[in-house]
Formats: sequence, structure tokens, C-alpha cells
Amino acid sequence: MYNKTRDYRKMKEGSKILDYNRITMIDIDGVLFFDPPLDAMLKMSPGKVASELEKLVLKDKYHKEESERIYCDDCLSTDIKKEYLCPRCQSLRIYKDVIILHMCGFRGTRKAFQYIDHMRCPHCKKPLHREDDDYIVEGVKYKCVDCTNIFEEPLVKYKCRSCRRVLGDDPKKIKVVKYIRKL
Ligand SMILES: [Zn+2]
Ligand SMILES: [Zn+2]
Ligand SMILES: [Zn+2]
Repeated sequence: MYNKTRDYRKMKEGSKILDYNRITMIDIDGVLFFDPPLDAMLKMSPGKVASELEKLVLKDKYHKEESERIYCDDCLSTDIKKEYLCPRCQSLRIYKDVIILHMCGFRGTRKAFQYIDHMRCPHCKKPLHREDDDYIVEGVKYKCVDCTNIFEEPLVKYKCRSCRRVLGDDPKKIKVVKYIRKL
């Protein structure tokens, strides 16, 4: 008898949620928000609403779409810019190109070796002959315009466009889960 009552109650809660065709859940650092505010409307804890929704997904009642967005934990803006910088001088003026190492020791982008109709070393002026013989193609790397540093991975920084704060390299993420009723 007791179990029967409990099952009935469970079913009722589930069916109340089913009245809503589109539900958005926002997870900010483990704190859940719902749109529409189902937790307040159905007098359930946010965690309970989330677990009920998960059950309904398993029962094939809702389609679930998850996405993550970086946010500024100072002003809560999600308008965040990702910047790539030179790891040595932090300049933003970096570009990607194929890097060539000449036998004289000069190392530069392929563009720097381009001379009118052929390839030649901008340092010793000798024309390039054969790959792996007098020069080595090191592959695609980054070069900094300001300090001439050549590197494989740029420094990544996130900047809030709204309050201009620089976020750490592991910024906080807001999780948005959309539940869409299957018909
Ligand atoms: Zn050279
Ligand atoms: Zn640099
Ligand atoms: Zn901000």
C-alpha cells in the first residue's frame, strides 16, 4: 500500500513536468536555475527537478541538448573573448605559418624565404635546394611579430568583453541544458 502511494506521487510529479514543452536548466557552479521556474512552481527542490527531468529523458519523453559557455565570475557576462598570445612577450601580434630551418641556422616562416620567383634564405641569401638536404620544414608553428619568438602553442587567455577582466586559463563555465518535449 505504501509503495503504491509513493509510485503514484512520483508519477504525478513527472506528469506535472510533462505540461512544459521546453525547459531550460542553467547550471552555474552547481547552482541550478530553471526557465520556467519549475522548482518554485511545483514546489520541488532544484536537484529533484533535475533528476525528474533526467528520468523523463530516459523514458524518451524529452530530447536533451547540452552546451557549455564560459562566463565571467565577476559580472556574470558570457561575452568572453578568447585571445592567443606569444608565450614569451604576451604580444597579440602572432601569426601561423610553415617554419623552415636553413642550414646556416636561420629559422623563419615560409613567407620570409619567398624571393620573387624562387625560395632563398633571407639571412645568407643562398637559394633553397632540396628539403632535408640544405633545409628542414619544421611544420606549422606560430611566430611573434614583436619578439620573433617561434613556438608551437600560443598562450590562451580569456577576457571579459563587458568588464574587461582577464580570466584565468581555466575559466568557469556555465552549463545550459535544454529539454524539449518529444511528441
Ligand atoms: Zn641561410
Ligand atoms: Zn613575442
Ligand atoms: Zn566581467
